[in-house]
Amino acid sequence: MSAGAGEAHGRCHCGRVRFVATFPSRFCAHCHCASCRRAHGAAFVTWVGFPSAQVHVTEGAEFLATHESSHETYRRFCRHCGTKLFFESARWPGETHVVLAAFDEPVDRAPSVHAFYAEHADWLPALRDPP
Ligand SMILES: [Zn+2]
Ligand SMILES: [Zn+2]
Repeated sequence: MSAGAGEAHGRCHCGRVRFVATFPSRFCAHCHCASCRRAHGAAFVTWVGFPSAQVHVTEGAEFLATHESSHETYRRFCRHCGTKLFFESARWPGETHVVLAAFDEPVDRAPSVHAFYAEHADWLPALRDPP
């Protein structure tokens, strides 16, 4: 269960879809874009980016559904419980962005960036400047 294991497991809310991601990740960022906000129903979404080859669905792949939220941008979610898990886009080829909140175990870095902060919800309290 430690980050030293070199990987972290995660799952959707209902547990039908389970995955493992192998370190090192590439980044961990809070995304404030309007698309993430609406798709997740949240002020912002915290993503951990991995090379796609390091992210494996270990159970419930048949429950994963895909929504093309913008051109060549795909959000994958559990079609039983609706939990969003993965984001892939032609804009970041070869990368899979995984929702940090879906992990059951620590990942190898803390969030360090506020992405698309210019689009942030105007009802979000002011945040400190990014590190
Ligand atoms: Zn589920
Ligand atoms: Zn976003």
